Amino acid sequence: MEYSLDIAVVGGGVIGLTAAYYLSREGLRVGVFDKQDLGKEASWAGAGILPTGNLQKAQAPLDRLRALSAEQFPQLSEELRERTGVDNGYLRCGGLEFIDRAASDTAEEWRG
Ligand SMILES: Cc1cc2nc3c(=O)[nH]c(=O)nc-3n(C[C@H](O)[C@H](O)[C@H](O)COP(=O)(O)OP(=O)(O)OC[C@H]3O[C@@H](n4cnc5c(N)ncnc54)[C@H](O)[C@@H]3O)c2cc1C
Repeated sequence: MEYSLDIAVVGGGVIGLTAAYYLSREGLRVGVFDKQDLGKEASWAGAGILPTGNLQKAQAPLDRLRALSAEQFPQLSEELRERTGVDNGYLRCGGLEFIDRAASDTAEEWRG
């Protein structure tokens, strides 16, 4: 059987699958290739904690990327639920983090 693809994604973890989803939503023909069943490596182990972010205050590229991602999670979750009928369990429940007083950099980060 012959395949004609616009894009081949190698690696079907959460990153590869999400990239493939967004690309195919734009009308591209995307194939995902993995050496085993999809989602069975790190994505299988993930605890499901999605750290939030503040786009207005985030300075470092990683913090900005995290904040941009956090903004998109609710819509992506809803979209996937509608399309697949699978409840992915996404819930904005907040959280508590206990700060080690000796680690002043952590406290500063959270203040931001
Ligand atoms: C114990 C644990 C808990 C975690 N908890 C959290 C959490 O609470 N919150 C959070 O945000 N993150 C968490 N993470 C991190 C998160 O799971 C990973 O950052 C994320 O799953 C990475 O996704 P990925 O698609 O990049 O990698 P993966 O899910 O590892 O996908 C990579 C895929 O590529 C395939 N592959 C590799 N080499 C080849 C090859 N040569 N040819 C073809 N296919 C190949 C693999 O088979 C695999 O399916 C946790 C990770 C672990 C291990």
